[in-house]
Amino acid sequence: MGTLLVCPKCGSTEVAVTAEEMFMVNTGDHYCHSVKTHDHNAKADCLGCRWEGQRAHLLESAYRIEDAR
Ligand SMILES: [Zn+2]
Repeated sequence: MGTLLVCPKCGSTEVAVTAEEMFMVNTGDHYCHSVKTHDHNAKADCLGCRWEGQRAHLLESAYRIEDAR
């Protein structure tokens, strides 16, 4: 059991988060993950209503994962 994060605008569970990764411009070497998907400031996009924001703005749904399927 657990809670789901949902879009604050339409309540959809179809929300994607963006990870950002940095590479050295001259060598292509990996530098760091500047933003990870579980970071509060990861960019979040709702696939339902096109809302854009940050992961921290998502709401916790009262639904259990089993109920959402
Ligand atoms: Zn939405």
